[in-house]
Amino acid sequence: MSLKLYNTLSRKKQIFKPITKSKVKLYTCGPTVYDFAHIGNLRAYLFADILKRTLKFNTYKVKHVMNITDVGHLTSDADTGEDKIEKTARAERKTAIEIAFIYTKAFKEDLRKLNIIAPNIWSEATKHISAQIKLIKVLEKKGFTYNTSDGLYFDSSKFKNYNKLGKLKTSKLKAGARINQGEKRNPTDFALWKFSPKNTQRQQEWISPWGVGFPGWHIECSAMSMKYLGKHFDIHTGGIDHIPVHHTNEIAQTESATGKAPWVNFWLHSEFIVDSQKRKMAKSKGNFLTITALEDRGFEPLDYRYLTLGTHYRKPIMFSIQTLKNAQTARKKLNERVLEIKQTRKIKISNNKYLKQFTKEINNDLNTPKALAVLQSMVRSKIPNGEKHYLILKFDEVLGLGFKKLKPHKVTTDIKTLAKKRLTARNKKDWQTADKLRKMIQSQGYNIDDTNSGYKLTKK
Ligand code: AMP
Ligand code: ZN
Repeated sequence: MSLKLYNTLSRKKQIFKPITKSKVKLYTCGPTVYDFAHIGNLRAYLFADILKRTLKFNTYKVKHVMNITDVGHLTSDADTGEDKIEKTARAERKTAIEIAFIYTKAFKEDLRKLNIIAPNIWSEATKHISAQIKLIKVLEKKGFTYNTSDGLYFDSSKFKNYNKLGKLKTSKLKAGARINQGEKRNPTDFALWKFSPKNTQRQQEWISPWGVGFPGWHIECSAMSMKYLGKHFDIHTGGIDHIPVHHTNEIAQTESATGKAPWVNFWLHSEFIVDSQKRKMAKSKGNFLTITALEDRGFEPLDYRYLTLGTHYRKPIMFSIQTLKNAQTARKKLNERVLEIKQTRKIKISNNKYLKQFTKEINNDLNTPKALAVLQSMVRSKIPNGEKHYLILKFDEVLGLGFKKLKPHKVTTDIKTLAKKRLTARNKKDWQTADKLRKMIQSQGYNIDDTNSGYKLTKK
């Protein structure tokens, strides 16, 4: 069953074929580490994780690179405003290096909690300055650059296919950038290298042929992805907000430098997490939550993973605490079933209708809601538990819901004693004591159900 992915470049679902047989080169635009990631940001990485797991499920070897933007991302995407890292450093009275370190660590911890497989290579922008300068030099030599008083810019009018990814109407392109055009020749031109401001001392700056300063955000991803994945690779991912500016500019500068197109075969983008008023979750709007905030409210990070799987990655998710509660309940029930099934020894199967269905759904542009539905109906089906056990773990290679590590709750001796006493009371038809004991068990976080052989304790 071939894998089909929706390519933003063609606006079509296409059959995926890697450039090199059986190996896939994948680049994901990583976080700007000036603050904790919010759960909106994390959706972009959950999506990239499902993509990577699906590629592996299809027996491809994946080389995955993710960048860490620790310099050059300005508060406005139009090359104006302050560097986000330097701004936080000042506010928190720390060095830029400390800020990047703290939030990179927190980000990696979020990924771990969400069961997201780490990339093979993490690449920090500040550790690849010479590769970026080298790439800018090529662009300069080929005549794509010009100087302004605040930096060296890319002349987007010199790249014929500038709009091929964004496909925006010219009027929209101009309107979006007009306000901040300044000395730029064209509204869509962007900074390759920014000069350090004359009146303030930057913490992170480097000497370059054009003056002391720092790289633009877009050149970082072009230089680093090419360094590790080459001049032509398979897949590049990000959130949909990357389409009109960041990824459009990455393509423009890279294909201008190499003189070859396409630089990347498949561009994949995930939709936003929005609030009840359909506004994008964002730091600036104050409508955001972090993984730690969810944990403080009694959720497990995997509840959020489960929630995102319930919607296709190209559709927005309207987030609310209630929808997360629903996901939590559904996941808990599923985990209980899985635990029961896991009591049986696995039976390996290769040809099964559920496996076929699951593969069909996930290979259809990563249709996680349908893949999850296949898992649910397989678990409820009449096939032998041993086969279910095998399929649960097989499907979880893609879904990443942590079924392998799932362990039954250890019921404490205290609870067991209460349950035994209750059984004795019941056998004596002492309903009053039995009821009292049930309440005591419940108050300690367990439910007790009567069964033919006695009772069953489950964690609430
Ligand atoms: P940043 O750290 O700002 O560079 O953003 C990291 C990633 O989060 C990018 O891929 C964005 O597209 C993505 N992103 C930002 N806000 C949201 C949101 N509300 N929902 C989903 N993805 C988002
Ligand atoms: Zn990027």
